[in-house]
Amino acid sequence: MADNTLYQLLGVARNASDGDIKKAYRRLAKEFHPDKNPEAGDKFKEISFAYEVLTDPQKRRIYDAQGIRGLQEGGGGGADMAGFGEDIFSHFFGGGLGGMFGMGGGRQRGPRRGEDTVYPLKVTLEDLYNGKTSKLQLSKSVVCASCGGTGGRMGTAPAPCRGCQGRGIKIHIRQIGPGMVQQKQTMCPDCHGEGELMSERDRCRTCAGQKTTSEVKILEVHVDKGMRDSQKITFRGEGNQKPGIEPGDVIVVLQQVPHEVFQRDGHDLHMTKKISLTESLCGFRIPIKHLDDRTVVIMSEPGTVLQPGARKGVRGEGFPIHRMPFEKGNLYLRFEVDFPANHWAPEPVYPQLEGLLPPRRAYQRPPGEHVEDVHLEDFDPSTQSRSGRAEAYDEDEEEHGGPGVQCAHQ
Ligand SMILES: [Zn+2]
Ligand SMILES: [Zn+2]
Repeated sequence: MADNTLYQLLGVARNASDGDIKKAYRRLAKEFHPDKNPEAGDKFKEISFAYEVLTDPQKRRIYDAQGIRGLQEGGGGGADMAGFGEDIFSHFFGGGLGGMFGMGGGRQRGPRRGEDTVYPLKVTLEDLYNGKTSKLQLSKSVVCASCGGTGGRMGTAPAPCRGCQGRGIKIHIRQIGPGMVQQKQTMCPDCHGEGELMSERDRCRTCAGQKTTSEVKILEVHVDKGMRDSQKITFRGEGNQKPGIEPGDVIVVLQQVPHEVFQRDGHDLHMTKKISLTESLCGFRIPIKHLDDRTVVIMSEPGTVLQPGARKGVRGEGFPIHRMPFEKGNLYLRFEVDFPANHWAPEPVYPQLEGLLPPRRAYQRPPGEHVEDVHLEDFDPSTQSRSGRAEAYDEDEEEHGGPGVQCAHQ
């Protein structure tokens, strides 16, 4: 549980007095001040932070009891801790420094993480079949390189916000009746809830005190053979940066645009092919352009009859399997048969054709007087469907009343 990191930073014992801490800090601050020692990097911020915590009785108590994360989480200090400044925590928990505090033991939760950024990427079925590398240009915020995300010029530090006394919140008290007050908290508009402000003249010029700048980034998205619609490709830590927060990921979501010919179902491909009546009866050879630009010739031998709606498959001509690109699913074809139009041939042809086709059913006029010849008319879906619905309704009625009652009496 014990986390001694802050004491170690100042080179003092855990039970060091305020005086010892001050002395140690002064000595180290001289050595590592960025003005004097620009190479020291973040060392100055670290010792300043340690000093700030260990000379504040409340913060020191929280730190001793709960370690660095206790401070970050407010550790029971409530709103007072808000004045601590996001920036310093940012410094400790961001940029890989968070790791050094993990050694102290205690709870480990990892640094706070920014939101993921999701980008859709339109791909064709060909792209998913063959694989492809796409360049994705995005704009993201990065921690300002000039100020390292402090928002201030070298060697400056933000001061507690005056508007909220460093709390980050403002408390409004309103009298709403005799002896009744209403208390309302709002985020401090001056410091946007951060509790501290960089004075105008100390602000970093590059980011205007915003701590981050915007950068155009180009990501190479590798769409592998066999990837599927809605598949996610994750770029770890490429999300927007913010000081003190581990950046989230950029997540690219593939969106397949519909294909004119093929529909994909897992590893299989499906397509519908229109063939003529002649082809359905007498065989065919039909070239089909596949997704990798090969031409696949599908064949049906004479004597094979393809009825309307018939389904056939071609083994191994489906979709490549992700990460096993030489394995493929199957291609399934559904055949629609295009019959010839009315009167497609002159009259004398039909008896000839009949001579070639299987014999028709024999017809003998049924005996008796109640035999009528009727003509077939073209089907009219609107009238047909209405009568169909009426019938269904009648059946319903019967089902509810009829059989139920009968059953009861049996
Ligand atoms: Zn800056
Ligand atoms: Zn404020």
